[in-house]
Amino acid sequence: MQSPPSLWWTQIDVTSPRPPLRGDVDVDVAIVGGGYTGLWTARELLRRDPHLRVCVLEARVCGFGASGRNGGWVSALFPAPASSVIAHVGLEGYTRQRQVLQDAVTSLGAAAHADAIDCDYVRGGTLSFARSEVQEVRGRHYVARAAEHGVAEEDLRWIDAEELKTVAWLDGARGAAYSPHCARIQPARLVRGLAEAVERHGGVIYEDTSVTRIMPGAGERRARLLTTRGTVRADYVVRATEGFTPTVRNQRRTVVPLYSLMIATEPLSASWWRDYGFDRFPTFNDERHLLIYGQRTADGRLAFGGRGSPYHFASSVEPRFDANEHVFAQLDESLRELFPTLDAPITHRWGGPLAMPRDRFPSVTVDHATGLAAAGGYTGDGVTLSYVCANALADMIVTPAERTAYSSLPFVQSPTRRWELEPLRWLGINAGIALATYADHYERRHGRESRASALLSRLTSD
Ligand SMILES: Cc1cc2nc3c(=O)[nH]c(=O)nc-3n(C[C@H](O)[C@H](O)[C@H](O)COP(=O)(O)OP(=O)(O)OC[C@H]3O[C@@H](n4cnc5c(N)ncnc54)[C@H](O)[C@@H]3O)c2cc1C
Repeated sequence: MQSPPSLWWTQIDVTSPRPPLRGDVDVDVAIVGGGYTGLWTARELLRRDPHLRVCVLEARVCGFGASGRNGGWVSALFPAPASSVIAHVGLEGYTRQRQVLQDAVTSLGAAAHADAIDCDYVRGGTLSFARSEVQEVRGRHYVARAAEHGVAEEDLRWIDAEELKTVAWLDGARGAAYSPHCARIQPARLVRGLAEAVERHGGVIYEDTSVTRIMPGAGERRARLLTTRGTVRADYVVRATEGFTPTVRNQRRTVVPLYSLMIATEPLSASWWRDYGFDRFPTFNDERHLLIYGQRTADGRLAFGGRGSPYHFASSVEPRFDANEHVFAQLDESLRELFPTLDAPITHRWGGPLAMPRDRFPSVTVDHATGLAAAGGYTGDGVTLSYVCANALADMIVTPAERTAYSSLPFVQSPTRRWELEPLRWLGINAGIALATYADHYERRHGRESRASALLSRLTSD
């Protein structure tokens, strides 16, 4: 079964794939995966050292994965709660990491601009709306806890209902947590533009080329990639396969693939948007447990997504999981609840896999002895994190003796633990999804938190 194309994909011109690898090649760095991680890594390596021989091997076409399908939030979010980060690396490490992520929202936009990539980047911040008393308590608590962790008001603040009316409006909004550190993009334009930029910087991209085995180097023997088209020898091989990682040999328990699904409306009129605002294109969600996310697109549509798709046994990744009629119907219902005057049809429905590590910490690793490197595990926050991790990889490969702002990030060279064996994975993850669904349902019905909410808040909040 073919994956349904994302709205973003239908707005760009992807003709035939680039030519595949033909035969064997020798390079300095070979990268597996032509999404943001692989392509930013190639770009950043070549910017630091234009003489490097860098190639990217992509099983389908660049942007086929989550990078061509996501919600287009360039955010400063980190998947693990602040309290876990502080417990792991202390307040100083957390603050440094937060600063790097905030700065990256801007530098990613500048990098795209420098490479003439027009991806509709607008830095309008992000709003997490509260639409009930319970959500307001949760949102205000989040902002207050952030302040205790040293987050300045200019980086995160509570906006009350009066002020909110001048910024953006959702039905029943009582206030929102606002951060300026988020931009909205058309994600497929970014990934396709990046692929072209990598080629201009001197990198080579082979599409329609599946890597079947990643083999470490040892002593004089260099690392190797076996592919469906030939063999690549390199000083370093970088695995950048994110949600597809469990399909790579020996990586089934590194991350779990979770499916996030999206819908989009047809373009909405300027007069319709007048009731809701969003003139500066802030991205938005609300304080429910089961994540939702949305943006006003450059052509005036609502693009809206969320979780809720089940985890599939044994970390299976299959094109048929990219669509789920039940989740699409839930998203449609939620969107019309948030925007009650919406009577436009849904024109696009799609989805894709993202990767969740066991401890919710992304990871970047480079083993100089074997030449094996990898980055990923961003859960749903990979648009900015992939840029940050690519910079860390490039720093560690080109200037291994230096500690830079990127390579000294707390989650760099800190591999995460593997997931449990089945059926524990299947039971645990799907129980979590069911718990969040139930907690939201209960809150909507009774206007107060269930015991499930309290449990989830303890597990996931700051
Ligand atoms: C629906 C959805 C919405 C999302 N929304 C957001 C958002 O708004 N903001 C945000 O920050 N994050 C979001 N994310 C997550 C974000 O999109 C990802 O974290 C990010 O795109 C990951 O980029 P990547 O390059 O690491 O992986 P991918 O883009 O998934 O790329 C991996 C590539 O590797 C290729 N590959 C896999 N195996 C092989 C192999 N053996 N040989 C060769 N190639 C291979 C795949 O074909 C794929 O192209 C969302 C994800 C989804 C699915």
